[in-house]
Formats: sequence, structure tokens, C-alpha cells
Amino acid sequence: MTTIDKTAHVPAPRESVSGDGPLLDVRDLHVEFHTRDGVAKAVNGVNYTVSAGETLGESGSGKSVTAQTIMGILDMPPGKITQGEILFRGQDMLKMSNEERRKIRGRKIAMIFQDALSSLNPVLTVGYQLGEMFRVHQGLSRKDAKVKSIELMDQVKIPAAAARISDYPHQFSGGMRQRIMIAMALALEPDLIIADEPTTALDVTVQAQVMDLLAELQREYNMGLILITHDLGVVADVADKIAVMYAGRIVETAPVGELYSRPAHPYTRGLLDSIPRLDQKGQELYAIKGLPPNLTRIPAGCAFSPRCPKAQDICRTEIPPLAPVTEQDGLELVGRGSACHFWKETIHG
Ligand code: ADP
Ligand code: MG
Repeated sequence: MTTIDKTAHVPAPRESVSGDGPLLDVRDLHVEFHTRDGVAKAVNGVNYTVSAGETLGESGSGKSVTAQTIMGILDMPPGKITQGEILFRGQDMLKMSNEERRKIRGRKIAMIFQDALSSLNPVLTVGYQLGEMFRVHQGLSRKDAKVKSIELMDQVKIPAAAARISDYPHQFSGGMRQRIMIAMALALEPDLIIADEPTTALDVTVQAQVMDLLAELQREYNMGLILITHDLGVVADVADKIAVMYAGRIVETAPVGELYSRPAHPYTRGLLDSIPRLDQKGQELYAIKGLPPNLTRIPAGCAFSPRCPKAQDICRTEIPPLAPVTEQDGLELVGRGSACHFWKETIHG
């Protein structure tokens, strides 16, 4: 059994985390959208925790909505949080005043999006946009803000940072623009970064470089990092633990090595089988049959059952809870859970 625990090697936190609890603790979160088509149940009882220096990758459906809800940028309406808690250092952000929440979001929690071009202002230089973080939030002078901005651009490994600071976003490659987004997110030294498909728009080789950079900075800054992706192939080397989502639920959680070597949910297995492999070049890629469900009409029982090669009668009637996964001798596997009636067959069979 391999478990990768990067938290064991990180330096002491910059400031002590209050108590011993996790940085972020999402509890039984439910989010729905009221649409003309009906109520789309996008997030249906999500639970997870992220600690300082820990990375969590998600793959499935309801990922962005979960992230937007944590970040406080969910469109309401049509979105509505119907249940749950989002504890940041033990305090429920959903119960805070707007001002308290604002202090956390943006400063303590930063977000990186897939599309840097639409997140950056095209008519302002990157130096101006980076510097603004320091001028507005930390009251630095123009000159000091510029020094800090160059430092940050160096840190995210943008070559010739001092010269490029007066360039505009379109003058950078996609990978370099994503590095600028990472620099913006880092500017205020947040405790947690939520990166939603941060490399999806990039070439495969550039994807790996940007992921490696994120992992390196996460260790250096001892931040929590939630890395959201639809592609399990890109988080293998970066994440500590993974939560796989399907139809708004977490269907499997596991330390990263365990998830890849022994998936305990047929959906995870399908996702892993769909990752292109270098040694199978030219072969047709496996795809999970069927489509994700319409969230206004989630199938009864396990939402994945209509697409599942292992589905039995019970799968079409009873929702499987996210239950602990054990070895054949009953030994509990730390951090592992599966919401499949037949996880035993899936992992051991
Ligand atoms: P992903 O896991 O691909 O990031 P999302 O979290 O973005 O998926 O969306 C999950 C589902 O939530 C969508 O399939 C859609 O049904 C619903 N949804 C998301 N945003 C909206 C919106 N603004 N209005 C209506 N429905 C939405
Ligand atoms: Mg998304």
C-alpha cells in the first residue's frame, strides 16, 4: 500500500492554525439551481476537509459549483445553498457578516480559474494588475508594489520578470498567463488556494509544468490547495488525497496512490481507464458509456447505476452512503471511502 503524505515534510506553518482542526471543513453542503427545467441538484451533501499543506483533487461533477460556493461567488439566484456549513479555521463562513466573509475570501482564500485571458484585464499591464494587489490590499507605494510584483513573477518562474512586467496579458503564452494568475493568487499569501481546472486550457507538457509549480509553491507557502480537474491524469503527482465527485456527491475518497492503484468505485475505475497512456499510443481510448445525469432528474438509487457495468437491483433503488473501505481482513484503510454497494468486489475483485 502506498500513501503519499506530503504534509509530513512541510516546514512549520507561517502562523499557527487555530486549534488542531482542518483549515477548511465543508459539511453536508447542498446547492441547487432553480431553472425553467426544474430544480437542478448540483451539490448533494458534500463533505471534505483540507489542512494546511494538503492538496485535494476532485474529479466528476458539481466541482465548480462547490468551489464557487466556498469562494462566495456562486450566482444567487439561480443558485441556492439549501444546507450545510463551510468552516474556515472552525468558523462557519455561511453565518458570517459580509465584512467578515470578505476578509477571508480574497485574502485568506484565493482562486485560480481555467481561463486567464478572461480573468486578467486586457488593457492593463500585468505589472499594474499584480501591483494593484499590493497597493490596494497592503497600502504599498507604487515603487514597493513594483518590487514585490517582480519578486512574485520570479517566483512563478516567468523569465526576465523585470522586463516583462510592463507587457500586456496577450503578449504572454497560455502557460505564462496561468503563472501570472498563480502569482496574483499568491500575492496576499493566502492560507488556501482553490484552483479550478487551472491547466485544462494548456498543452500537456505545459500542464505538467504548471502543476509542478503549484505543488512546489504549495509546499513552500504551506498552503492548503484544492485542485479541481476533470482529468485524473494531471493530479497524480500533485495531490495528497483525492475526492471523486459524481452528480453532486463525493463517490470516492482516497490517498492519491491508493486511488490510482486500487479504485473502490466503478466510476473512478472508468475515469482512470479513460486516461491516455503513453504505452498505448494509437489504441482507442476507453470512455465510460452514457452521459452524466440531468441534475433535475437524478436517477433513483446510485446516480451512476445507469452507466455502471456492475449495477445490480439494489443500485437502482438505494443510494449507497460513502462508507469506509477496508482490507479483506477488515483492517480499515485510513482516508478511504466509497459510495458503492459493491466496493468490495470493485477493489478486491
Ligand atoms: P463541473 O463538475 O463540471 O465543474 P459544475 O459544478 O460547473 O460542474 O456544474 C454542475 C451542474 O450544476 C451543472 O451541470 C448544471 O446543471 C448546474 N449549474 C451550474 N451552474 C449553473 C447555473 N448558473 N445555472 C443553472 N444551473 C447551473
Ligand atoms: Mg467546472
